[in-house]
Amino acid sequence: MPEIRVTDVRAIETAPMKGSNLIVVRIDTNQPGLFGLGCATFTQRHKAVVTAIEVYMKQLLIGRDATNVQDNFQVMMNSSYWRNGPVLNNAISGCDMAFWDILGKSLNAPIWKLWGGKVRDAVPVYRHADGKDFAQLDERVQSYLDQGYQYIRCQFGGYGGKTRYLNSPENTRPGTYFDALSYMRGVPKLFEHVRSVFGEEVELLHDVHERLTPVDAMWLVKQLEPYRLFFLEDALSPEQGHWWPKLRDAAAVPLAMGELFNNPMEWIPLIQNRWIDYIRCHISQIGGATPARALAAQCALFDVRTAWHGPGDVSPIGHMANVHLDLTTPNFGIQEWCGMEQDPRVQEVFQGCAAIRGGMAWANDNPGWGVDIDEKAAAKYPCDASQPAWLLSRLPDGTSVKA
Ligand code: MG
Repeated sequence: MPEIRVTDVRAIETAPMKGSNLIVVRIDTNQPGLFGLGCATFTQRHKAVVTAIEVYMKQLLIGRDATNVQDNFQVMMNSSYWRNGPVLNNAISGCDMAFWDILGKSLNAPIWKLWGGKVRDAVPVYRHADGKDFAQLDERVQSYLDQGYQYIRCQFGGYGGKTRYLNSPENTRPGTYFDALSYMRGVPKLFEHVRSVFGEEVELLHDVHERLTPVDAMWLVKQLEPYRLFFLEDALSPEQGHWWPKLRDAAAVPLAMGELFNNPMEWIPLIQNRWIDYIRCHISQIGGATPARALAAQCALFDVRTAWHGPGDVSPIGHMANVHLDLTTPNFGIQEWCGMEQDPRVQEVFQGCAAIRGGMAWANDNPGWGVDIDEKAAAKYPCDASQPAWLLSRLPDGTSVKA
């Protein structure tokens, strides 16, 4: 077998869906036509990741054996001394996924095959339904049910808490205002309504988006117990981890956590103490497919299932990496799905995206991840480094808070 050496490492920036800056790493090799692609998407600070890839990863990786995936990951993670932050983890992830892609292509095998084959043929996914009122929400839930989806995350207006009756001081500071008390009162009514309209057959999820104080999150968990959620997502912020045992004991509501995690110390206690039911890290935020596989295996020992983060700010290569993980992980739980593969601009830029049939995601049998990028088309949709407005979140009195 010829030696496969890295000859170039670069970042491809594209935003076919405005507002979601996608970063794809491309690693070229000394073998003609053999290259790998990976997802390094940190939408909100994408230029910082591009620099980490094109300055630091490039000089570290050129000349290395591209098929030594594990060693390359260890070198990338250990060589900066300071580690486990979102910028470097995303840069590492893009390269890690690209190395898996190269290994798969060099062996003419899809990555799910390299990882021991499928334990299921397709991956159940959940979709996000929100509405400004019950009628609009019902319409969107029904539309998903009609398309064959069985798992639906229900929210009021994005993540809720938007009300006309904000008690704010004069000359409010610019930002997106959120009323936690209005949100708390509304969510139990939302689920009472959805259960009464759609019955027990549909699986319901909800995302708190870490927007409540811990004691308010405890109150909400108790209120939601009668509606038998599939899971409640991000009920606490990562900074309030010591509240998990209290939340766990408050009610029999399955708990999901992790999309903001970067450091293993954030998830280890939640898993080994069985305080959560689903781990839902953003794969590129934890360093890529290599650490995600290790995390899934760790979770299996504690009966914690996977629910990897799958929003619009993950590239189709990242979504496909989620699907390959899901297909090969016995303790898989559910996959978040944003449906970006249906957008014609995304189809123009990315070829071979995971397909949805019957409410489930399917991988293709192409070597590697099976997803390609058209760089000419990608260049038609430039990224935008300006600050997203929804992340400038404020309480009614004007205080800046986590979004
Ligand atoms: Mg979430």
